[in-house]
Amino acid sequence: MPAKVDMDKIVSLCKRRGFIFPSSEIYGGLASCWDYGPMGVELKRNVKDAWWKAVVHERDDVVGLDTSIMMHPGVWAASGHIDNFTDPLVECKSCHLRWRADAIEGKRCPQCSGELTEPRMFNLMFKTFMGPVEEKASIVYLRPETAQGIFVNFENVVTTSRKKLPLGIAQIGKSFRNEITPGNFIFRTREFEHMELEYFVKPGTDEKWLDYWVKESFDWYVKLGIKKENLRLRQHGKDELAHYARDCYDIEYLFPMGWSELEGIANRGDFDLTQHAKCSGKELSYRDAEAGEKYVPYVIEPSAGVDRSVLAFLVDAYEEEEVEGEKRTVLHLHHSLAPIKVAVLPLSRNEKLTPLAKEVFKRLCPRFVTDYDDSQSIGRRYRRQDEIGTPFCVTIDFESLEDKQVTIRERDSLAQIRVPVEGLEKVIEAKLRGEAFDASTLWATRQK
Ligand code: ATP
Repeated sequence: MPAKVDMDKIVSLCKRRGFIFPSSEIYGGLASCWDYGPMGVELKRNVKDAWWKAVVHERDDVVGLDTSIMMHPGVWAASGHIDNFTDPLVECKSCHLRWRADAIEGKRCPQCSGELTEPRMFNLMFKTFMGPVEEKASIVYLRPETAQGIFVNFENVVTTSRKKLPLGIAQIGKSFRNEITPGNFIFRTREFEHMELEYFVKPGTDEKWLDYWVKESFDWYVKLGIKKENLRLRQHGKDELAHYARDCYDIEYLFPMGWSELEGIANRGDFDLTQHAKCSGKELSYRDAEAGEKYVPYVIEPSAGVDRSVLAFLVDAYEEEEVEGEKRTVLHLHHSLAPIKVAVLPLSRNEKLTPLAKEVFKRLCPRFVTDYDDSQSIGRRYRRQDEIGTPFCVTIDFESLEDKQVTIRERDSLAQIRVPVEGLEKVIEAKLRGEAFDASTLWATRQK
């Protein structure tokens, strides 16, 4: 089943409408690095907020954490990243391009068909030096995942939160991987953001909790509007499991380049806490006073990419359709993800309309991310708002000056309702919460 939209169209919309720009563009760009523009930063923030709300705020068994990107190098030795966080790398002997050996078909260079070197293992962690002296003793790594910051703080969090197991610790933050073949826009980059949960459970209950988090994670995307038929689950084969994993599922999405991983949910067993206890010399176990037990918890880890989720939400929301003979591009983003919730659009720049339009804007902007736009024709402004996924446009026309009513246009159905300016914010609030947009009755009321 082919994906419904080409990546080129997504990249072009993102550039055109201020979602995502190539990094350092005026210098020719930097491979696989991207900057989030005014719309992109709102969308990305909304994705992270939706995840934090679902995983931390709406539960009493998960707390949050924000740990540093650079950590003691011993962390990465203990976690196995120094020895195992590698990909097999081959280099073309003719054009010198480098490839991930397991990601190419055949034995020749995909670029020039040249002969390839034997694979050598390449560590994906970025190295840098801490302090003014560039020597081996001062090497530190940029974290390739946020999870280790959680494991090394397990004791701190359990002690201070005074919560019982099962207990989750969640973190959102930047990770860095020196990927051999980044690409597909923001799907695979060398700097990206993770949304990770480490959910600590009693050994023996881990399989149940793995099933639970696979379902929770899958449903999160569906609740936020991703079509179920564009998502699927895939269990890792035994030979595919990471060195720390007892079991693992990928949630895959039908991206423009085909089915690819969106999120991984792994049963990490007690690998990490045991390793850190061994290497740090600090005991990392959990004492259940009521049951009179002490054990090293097992960990279930849903690990999602913020940027990859942003891409999936954009691809899934994208639609080109024909409305009254004209092509319309629209992002059917879930209301909670839309960068702008409501746009205030006076019919024209006519000075008689401006004061009321500004009054409407002032009324709405403290409550919702609101855009004010009075440039160009109203048709072009609607088109812009459709392309950035704004759920509602409020239009102020000359009749508004008489009856103190405005028109609200809904993005997906294009239906319109006429409502009083007084109390407009309550109407928008209800519609954003999902109240039916019943155009027929309200519009009919106005016609009478
Ligand atoms: P892949 O197999 O695609 O390289 P992975 O299995 O190494 O991914 P994990 O370590 O499980 O990925 O990371 C969890 C999630 O983080 C992924 O599902 C993805 O959403 C995101 N992610 C991982 N690597 C990258 C990257 N280089 N760029 C953007 N997102 C990434």
